[in-house]
Amino acid sequence: MTRNIVVLGGDGIGPEVTAAAVTVLRALDARIGLDLHFDAQPFGGAAIDACGDPLPPAVLDACRAADAILLGAVGGPKWANVPSAIRPEAGLLRLRSELGLYANLRPLQLHPALVDASPLKPERISGVDLLVVRELTGGIYFGQRTRSETRATDECAYSVGEVERVTRSAARLARARRGKLTSVDKANVLETSRLWREVVTRVVREEFPELQLEHLLVDAMAMYLVSRPRDFDVIVTENLFGDVLTDECAAVSGSLGMMPSASVGDSGPGVYEPIHGSAPDIAGLGVANPYGTVLSAAMMLRQSLAAPAAAAMLEAAVHGAISAGVRTRDLGGGASTADATAAILSHLASAPAIAA
Ligand code: NAD
Repeated sequence: MTRNIVVLGGDGIGPEVTAAAVTVLRALDARIGLDLHFDAQPFGGAAIDACGDPLPPAVLDACRAADAILLGAVGGPKWANVPSAIRPEAGLLRLRSELGLYANLRPLQLHPALVDASPLKPERISGVDLLVVRELTGGIYFGQRTRSETRATDECAYSVGEVERVTRSAARLARARRGKLTSVDKANVLETSRLWREVVTRVVREEFPELQLEHLLVDAMAMYLVSRPRDFDVIVTENLFGDVLTDECAAVSGSLGMMPSASVGDSGPGVYEPIHGSAPDIAGLGVANPYGTVLSAAMMLRQSLAAPAAAAMLEAAVHGAISAGVRTRDLGGGASTADATAAILSHLASAPAIAA
């Protein structure tokens, strides 16, 4: 079974980290026979430069036809002044929306060797293992916007159906983990949050009664993520709150470069990408941390390509590289992107072979 992967490197360090992940995936393929096929396509600022559109129709068609999409990052100062409708970020929002990718999964697990990279005390951060499920195609990022000389508005809207489907995704994941679901909202102020809380409560009570469900206000959650992150298993929240809280998770982990993500819908290909941006300050220097992208590729193997054992091999190889002390600059080391990639490859080569 051929597995078709569209690679959207994007801008800045995006092409550097996706190239590292493709190198590692090719080596894994050669080792255990996954029949991976890669198709690189322009996206974001690179596509604006090529044809004036951050998500050209042919690229969207290729994405729709793929089994999965591996993405780097988009944006940068070069495109800061292009009209907002065709900015690189607009291409990203359109890709998520066109593919119906309403659930964004961002796991936070800290490798024991990186506990010292976290700004939190080791006793607070060691052993943390949580998963944020962020609603990705609704809320304030997709509402009507208005602007006059003296006023601006952004509409935040959620329908019952939008909340139900992301609640089910998060609840299924919680059921397969430690059975605890924390829903985050601002129900003391916002009407959308009151709807959110009602729907989450009903779906979990009726369809997932075995789960332990708690509701927290987003301001309290922001505090608890730094004061007691180990208490959480799966966290489900709306688009804007999820955006902010997952960056807080990245800060807690000690490096943006380590964190993977998956964006998935009910059917069709998912998009797998590190949570960091295009890092224009280090683009082209060969020092970007590729681990988050390789871990995203592992999520891709598990969730879209039905290759869970291969995913585990990839994760073990990244852990091996970190355990061996191969750290990029953001992790306080001196390793280059190529060094980190070589370390992953060497751990893959010596790992016991498994059936794909
Ligand atoms: P950023 O994540 O690109 O960088 C923040 C800091 O973290 C920088 O100092 C950078 O060097 C460092 N960093 C990030 N990833 C790293 C990695 N893999 N290895 C080593 N260091 C790394 O955020 P920013 O500077 O706020 O944004 C830069 C551009 O990226 C902007 O145009 C922004 O819109 C865009 N952006 C894109 C995405 C995306 O494509 N999903 C996400 C966030 C930001």
